Amino acid sequence: MSILIICGRTPKETESYNWYMLKWQEALLKLDPSLDIRIWPEIGNPEDITFVLLWRHPHGVCEQFPNLRCIASMGAGVEHIMTDPNLPTHIPVVRIMDNTMGKQMVQYAVAATLFHIRLFDRWQESQRIAKWDKFPPFGLYKAQVGVMGLGYLGQQIAIALTQMGLPVSGWSNSKKSIDNVQSFAGKNEFELFLSQSDVLICMLPLTPETKGILNKNTFNLLPPNAYIINMGRGQHLIEQDLIDAIDSGQLSGACLDVFEEEPLPKQHPFWSQPKIKITPHIASVTSPTSVAPQILENYQRAQRGDDLINRANVTRGY
Ligand code: NAP
Repeated sequence: MSILIICGRTPKETESYNWYMLKWQEALLKLDPSLDIRIWPEIGNPEDITFVLLWRHPHGVCEQFPNLRCIASMGAGVEHIMTDPNLPTHIPVVRIMDNTMGKQMVQYAVAATLFHIRLFDRWQESQRIAKWDKFPPFGLYKAQVGVMGLGYLGQQIAIALTQMGLPVSGWSNSKKSIDNVQSFAGKNEFELFLSQSDVLICMLPLTPETKGILNKNTFNLLPPNAYIINMGRGQHLIEQDLIDAIDSGQLSGACLDVFEEEPLPKQHPFWSQPKIKITPHIASVTSPTSVAPQILENYQRAQRGDDLINRANVTRGY
């Protein structure tokens, strides 16, 4: 009964993640020194592997393990697992639900939203030319925030934004009941949700339904000068549509943590668009130490044949 840690689709990528896989191994062994933990590609006998812990694994690899009982994602998202065409779909997939990650995501969303609403770009520009620019408006006080995705992380973000005194709505597959958050659900209510989102935050999982959802049709349904914050995945955004909408003045700007290609290539036009803020996929970073207890919990449950915690739904894709 062994745990196998795999990071990276290619041998080169795996090599660059070696330090991270060792951190995971260390964090798990600290909790239970008796664990047999192997690091890809040193798998030993494939029949020993009962639990895999993955981040961007080489597709098809899970099929090699006849005694596999659980596939665990190292992150909140599971699209890197669900897109494996050879995924053994009878094996349960679990994801991370971590308080530390939640706090980091909330901090990022609140910072990006308030920076925009309190016009920090303007004050920064005034400072550059030593101008005491004390003329209204001092902020976009009427701005409403729309959070796409009201799951584990999206809900925490929506609640934190209401605590900043902002009007907040959210959009998800199913209706939610969250204090002070107007809930919209499903395709039928998407248009209405967008029509009142001056700041649109993407906290959706990446699935075939949500891929490319931040596109020109979506932007056309937002109020004029809306602002985009993408904390989901790069593939949610049609990048050229964003550039066009900012260039034409339809959107006022964007704050992006995730990109179609990461690292963002040096020559990418986003780098030179001053209305786009770029962060290198750091809205939150999984901490092996913080998350190891729930991985161990699922490993133990899987060995006993008990129900797993934090299960993703293979049919829904998240
Ligand atoms: P989650 O708990 O699975 O929640 C997903 C939410 O999206 C749910 O509210 C779900 O609706 C909604 N949803 C899914 N498909 C939809 C659709 N087609 N239409 C409308 N709503 C839909 O996920 P989470 O833990 O909050 O995380 C969300 C994503 O954040 C992750 O998948 C990951 O990609 C991203 N993430 C990014 C970072 C970063 O550093 N940038 C860090 C962590 C996570 P229901 O509630 O009705 O099911």
